[in-house]
Amino acid sequence: MSHASRTQVAIVGGGPAGLMLSQLLHLSGIDSIVLDNRTAPTIEGTHRAGILEADSVRLLVDAGADRVLREGHRHDGISLRFAGVSHRIDFADLAGSSCWLYPQTEVFADLHRLRTATGGDLRYGIADTAVSGLGVADDTERPRIRYADTDGRSHEIVADLVVGADGSRSMCRHLVEGAERFQREYPFAWFGVLVETPPNAPELVYTRSEAGFALVSQRTETVQRLYFQCDPAERVEDWSDDRIRETLQTRVAGEDGFRLHEGPVLERSVLPFRSFVQSPMRHGRLLLAGDAAHTVPPTGAKGLNLALADVRILAETVERALLKDDADALAEYTDRALARVWRAQHFSYWMTTLLHRPPRGDQAGGFDERRQLGELASIVASRAGSTYLAEGYTGRTPS
Ligand SMILES: Cc1cc2nc3c(=O)[nH]c(=O)nc-3n(C[C@H](O)[C@H](O)[C@H](O)COP(=O)(O)OP(=O)(O)OC[C@H]3O[C@@H](n4cnc5c(N)ncnc54)[C@H](O)[C@@H]3O)c2cc1C
Repeated sequence: MSHASRTQVAIVGGGPAGLMLSQLLHLSGIDSIVLDNRTAPTIEGTHRAGILEADSVRLLVDAGADRVLREGHRHDGISLRFAGVSHRIDFADLAGSSCWLYPQTEVFADLHRLRTATGGDLRYGIADTAVSGLGVADDTERPRIRYADTDGRSHEIVADLVVGADGSRSMCRHLVEGAERFQREYPFAWFGVLVETPPNAPELVYTRSEAGFALVSQRTETVQRLYFQCDPAERVEDWSDDRIRETLQTRVAGEDGFRLHEGPVLERSVLPFRSFVQSPMRHGRLLLAGDAAHTVPPTGAKGLNLALADVRILAETVERALLKDDADALAEYTDRALARVWRAQHFSYWMTTLLHRPPRGDQAGGFDERRQLGELASIVASRAGSTYLAEGYTGRTPS
């Protein structure tokens, strides 16, 4: 026997996009059910993004999650490091904006706590999600979502709309018939570690070196997040703490004597990446948001910010469609969301190809390495060049 529920919006995926959407809809008086096949503690313990644009911080605060203002760290710039020298890109001066260091684990914890406190129907740890009845041929048809709960009991939810916020391995995106998929693969990945040391620098340090890219980031007063470029086929078990330390020190070394603090490596993972966009982001009564519709390489710190930006537009779209009976709302969603997505795609691709070393043996590699150095020199030598980076990174690009 199947347990039945009725809701206005069924949200597949209870990551930052799904939870934020549920909270914004709640504030507009629209009910929703959030489904996720992982447990909340698993999601909260998975380290991912760490940088929020000012717009993302504003959205969190507007939604009722303002801990970021007390416990996040405002960053007014980054260091761009190449040829062994650091150059500060001053966001506040160049773009009149800033970013916030506030890990995705905290964003999830805040939204989960908030939505629980506001009475949200959150169903984590479920299995076998299946969506049907998207109302493409018959608009009176309503979507049905079936799943099995943690005890294996089957459930069915009938909704007016279903939102696929189910991340980069989205099942929902495959329900969009005739969608176009645009993508680019990269011949490198990131090796990410958490290391127990004090912070190495007050702001993020993006490093391009002869040995490859490295990113020095922060998490807390005692734990830091560091990344270095690696081969996508790299296996974490082949990397001892000493090998990781040596690789990172080599990448950031320079004439100024900059060195990283050394400490135990608490966690390590390989993060392959690609640029991906699916269009349209809507099919009948199904709408996609966040990584389900698009992914970016992490270099420009855009993934989480784009997911939240989609949700801001989507909440308004759903409100227009369900509360104001606005027939154009759903049809306009893809174009509104993709306008920002493609700018972020360009920025992420640009930063990635600017800072990562082409693989050895790449025939054009020698040319590209020197071209990268020429481009980096132009960026730091020119206010226009630095402003372009600052605007893209903070999401403040004029429209
Ligand atoms: C491994 C990894 C590491 C990353 N690291 C960085 C980083 O270092 N820096 C950076 O800027 N960005 C990073 N990102 C990108 C950033 O984390 C994402 O852009 C962000 O999480 C997008 O949020 P989302 O809510 O769209 O998707 P997600 O956070 O992926 O949430 C989707 C949710 O849907 C659930 N789900 C999936 N399928 C189903 C299903 N069939 N039924 C029910 N639930 C389902 C998943 O369990 C998940 O909780 C990383 C992404 C990944 C995957």
